[in-house]
Order: sequence, then structure tokens, then C-alpha cells
Amino acid sequence: MKAPLTASPLNPASAIYRRIIEAGDHWAHEIQRGQRFRIVDLEGNQAADTLFYDAHDPANRYSAADTIRHQAALYLTTGTRLMSTEGDLLLTIIADTCGRHDTLGGACYRESNTMRYALDKEFMHACRDSFICAAHSWGADVGKRDITCNINFFMNVPVTPDGRLTFEDGVSGPNRYVEMRAERDVVCLISNCPQLNNPCNAYNPTPIEVIIWEPGANHPAA
Ligand SMILES: [Zn+2]
Repeated sequence: MKAPLTASPLNPASAIYRRIIEAGDHWAHEIQRGQRFRIVDLEGNQAADTLFYDAHDPANRYSAADTIRHQAALYLTTGTRLMSTEGDLLLTIIADTCGRHDTLGGACYRESNTMRYALDKEFMHACRDSFICAAHSWGADVGKRDITCNINFFMNVPVTPDGRLTFEDGVSGPNRYVEMRAERDVVCLISNCPQLNNPCNAYNPTPIEVIIWEPGANHPAA
């Protein structure tokens, strides 16, 4: 079942930060407590692989298992509280015009590309490589061991009635977005998935936009 869609009153013209992340590129940026953070699926059906860390303690990072347990639901959407490994609230999803987002399917990596698709896919760029690049650009002591189960914003990985995971065509569309409020200072790493072998992005990775607003930006009900 798809959750109701929730639009945001925030206007990109009043944002303090806007950046296009091309397909296959990575991004690392701090989002301060109270700031609003939007990710826009510019052309639709893109997978934005995303991780969050406590900006002051990178060992305290996003936990898919704790987030799922906390809300007793598998998909992420408006109202979802993104929890950390230490049980802290990192961000809250406050708007969502896509409907649901995956946090079970994980990020693509070169080994999984060879297992899932073909041996000659090993040399294709993959999300785990991008996450490592993003971690380096952040400069914190974050390495391979810290690239854990991530969020796949805009990605459709339905769970079947008998509990199986399936990768399906996307449920997103052009200019759909998800918006969060940071509940503490966090660092966000994004790998805008370069995957060419998975139907979730229609075999065509496309750019996304990230937008940040200050806490008091034209938001009537904080
Ligand atoms: Zn990927």
C-alpha cells in the first residue's frame, strides 16, 4: 500500500544551498540541526543512495534496522524518523511526493554487479565506490567498514507477501522529492546511483538536486 503524498511549503528560491548531483557522482555535506533538506528526483525513477552520520561522532550513524523497528514498518515516507545506531534521532521525513523509499536493498557494488548481472560488469562504477569517494571528501575517519545499510531514496524494492525482496520499476516521477528536518547536526553522503543494469531506474541513471533551507525559512509550522 502506498502512503499518502505530502507536499512541502518551502520554496527553492529561499534556500541557502542548491546543487545538482549528476548520475554517478557523489556528494558529502553537513546539514545542521533544524535545517530542512530536500532531495529532488529531477527526471524520475533515479535511486539516490544515501547515508547519514552524526557530524560530531561519525561512529553514530544511520541504522536501517533501528529505523524499521522504531516505526514498525519497512518503507520510509513522511513521518519516518531516521534513527542512528546509538538510538538517536538523526532526521525526520517531513514531506514526500514520491510515496515510499527503500532501506533494505542496499547499495550496488562491483561484486554484486558480477553476481547479479554478468562477470564483465565488474569494472562498472558502483555506489560503494562513490560512497568511499564521498567519505574521503568529508575528511572524517570514515572508511569501508562505515559504509553500511543505506537508504535508497526513490527506489522501489517491494516486499512480497511471502517476504521476498523484489527490485521493480520505480514509483517516482520527474520532480518528485523527499524532504527531511535535521534533528541534530548530520553529515549526508550521497551516491547518485550509476547503475545501468537494474530496472529500478529504467536502465538510465539521471541527475538529482539537493536543496537546504535554514530553520526559519518560509515554513509556517516548524
Ligand atoms: Zn547503485
